Amino acid sequence: MAKKPQKSSKLTEKEVKRFALSQGADVVGIASVESLLEASLPEGRRPWDILPGAKSVVSFYMMGIDTPRLLRDDWFLGTPEHSINFVLLGSGWPGATQVDLLGYKIARFLIHRGFKAIPIPSGHPYDKINLRGIISQKHAAVAAGLGEIGFNQLLLVPKFGCNVYPGSVLTTAVLKANPKYEKRLCEETRKDCNFLCVSSCPSKAIKKDGSFDKKECHVFLYEGVGKRFGYPPHQHMLRCGVCMNVCPAGKPTKKIIA
Ligand code: SF4
Ligand code: SF4
Repeated sequence: MAKKPQKSSKLTEKEVKRFALSQGADVVGIASVESLLEASLPEGRRPWDILPGAKSVVSFYMMGIDTPRLLRDDWFLGTPEHSINFVLLGSGWPGATQVDLLGYKIARFLIHRGFKAIPIPSGHPYDKINLRGIISQKHAAVAAGLGEIGFNQLLLVPKFGCNVYPGSVLTTAVLKANPKYEKRLCEETRKDCNFLCVSSCPSKAIKKDGSFDKKECHVFLYEGVGKRFGYPPHQHMLRCGVCMNVCPAGKPTKKIIA
């Protein structure tokens, strides 16, 4: 017999977090939907447009596998850590990655407890003109107190640095939000790394003035990596990820095999 959703009942953030961790999340946090609202969020892309009555966002991440560093002269072939993790954890097809599957399970858990919930996929639906998803997973993670946005525009978290793949679920459940994240990993590491992400970015998308050219990155990420070796665009699974690979913030060791 099909499982019927329970009537809306009390649900604590601890229960949600425990469930998410038991299903494979490495870290889970909660944010109120209001804290997700950026002034620039256009109509149709606000949490309430996606889930009317949404009250909270459950944000989580899964760590990427820390593959051997192969950053050498041939780094235009892409970094294995990002190319591999991208497919397993953070790639384009909804439901096809571990992160999306976990979001789906968390949403089901919330629905069975009597709330509405929608998992936000890690890839599509994706605005290919403005290069953005329906909700920024990174900003949801920051709002949920999990980390910060580094100079390389990636989510940086303690212990794993930027080698993490975030996901999130919108829900009508009112859940207690996490405290604000106070660390400043990027700022503290910059003194030693001397903006390694800026000097290493092959497309010069990461600028020293703090701005970021999404389009430059996008073109190189998908098309430029294998160009030197004659791969046609989108015909290979290699991804750049140099900015992830070089960033030492939050990582216990940073060994580059040369
Ligand atoms: S993925 Fe590559 S091109 Fe894009 S910002 Fe990172 S280093 Fe630069
Ligand atoms: S490489 Fe350095 S400047 Fe760039 S994000 Fe990492 S810590 Fe910040």
